[in-house]
Amino acid sequence: MSTSRGAGDAACTADLGAQYITLEAERAQPHRSFYEELLSHGILQQLTARIEGMVVKKGSCNYVAPQGISSVVKYYLKQSGADVFYEQHVTRISLRDGKWEVSRKTGPPELFDIVILTMPVPQILHLQGDIVNIINESQKQQLESVSYSSRYALGLFYEAGTRIDVPWAAQYITDNPCIRFISIDNKKRNIESPEIGSSVVVHTTVTFGSKYLDSDLTEVQQLILSHLERILPSLPKPSSIKCQKWRYSQKVAWQDLCKREGRISQQCHAPDPGCDHGAALSCARAPRQISHEKYTA
Ligand SMILES: Cc1cc2nc3c(=O)[nH]c(=O)nc-3n(C[C@H](O)[C@H](O)[C@H](O)COP(=O)(O)OP(=O)(O)OC[C@H]3O[C@@H](n4cnc5c(N)ncnc54)[C@H](O)[C@@H]3O)c2cc1C
Repeated sequence: MSTSRGAGDAACTADLGAQYITLEAERAQPHRSFYEELLSHGILQQLTARIEGMVVKKGSCNYVAPQGISSVVKYYLKQSGADVFYEQHVTRISLRDGKWEVSRKTGPPELFDIVILTMPVPQILHLQGDIVNIINESQKQQLESVSYSSRYALGLFYEAGTRIDVPWAAQYITDNPCIRFISIDNKKRNIESPEIGSSVVVHTTVTFGSKYLDSDLTEVQQLILSHLERILPSLPKPSSIKCQKWRYSQKVAWQDLCKREGRISQQCHAPDPGCDHGAALSCARAPRQISHEKYTA
């Protein structure tokens, strides 16, 4: 759920990960209150912009987050009243006198009554300490069966007034080995304004993501840009660019786990084979969750 800012203009933002949230008919009832709340606070808005090549399932409804997808998480964090500490890389979780001792990359370990993990499953399994021993063999097998595809995202940030002349807000690309999805992000989020620069988001195909997973980020960026130029030759030069690697992009085999665990789940169908995403949210035990039912990028 990440929203990035342009290097020279903090008001110019782009969602490099999740693009929109789809509420499917079968989940409309149990999840209605979440959507109503987020819609009434302007955190979500119905997606009205033109998305070419989008597969729309009957009875489903798509929503965008005008202030960026991270605003959904920020909204719930604010409501919780919790003190939030960012940039804390957890490395080890151990039991100490009936409490959880959490160690980080930097700083001393701290004790907690309850720990909720919402990171991608492989990252949970890589944690050190007692956490690995409290997961029994069967749970471990289930968790290990959750695998992820990888892909890259590119964010192009423009100065205010730069015109991006395309008739759509986003487009799924089906005939390019590198690029799967392009979005004029501010247009998609319905926040076009002469004062704020536009942003363009590009997602690669899963095949490209896997092939270049451990390549140099600058080289990957150049490759994506060269493909982008062929698809959109008249795209203006951006004032800044951000290239993001999503090692754990979409879940490939998670449905069984979520069903068995009886948690609120995400369901991601994608025209790009092997394009499902992230177990993290569905496996968290957070009391109030919004789920991302469908992702088609
Ligand atoms: C390219 C892309 C496009 C997507 N498009 C859509 C879409 O259109 N619609 C949709 O519904 N979903 C989409 N998704 C999926 C969506 O982003 C995820 O379902 C969602 O982000 C899951 O949220 P989360 O909070 O559970 O986990 P995440 O957003 O993955 O957050 C996990 C967090 O854990 C942190 N973390 C990991 N390891 C550690 C550690 N050791 N210590 C501390 N923190 C750690 C990470 O930094 C991260 O902030 C997309 C994903 C990608 C990558």
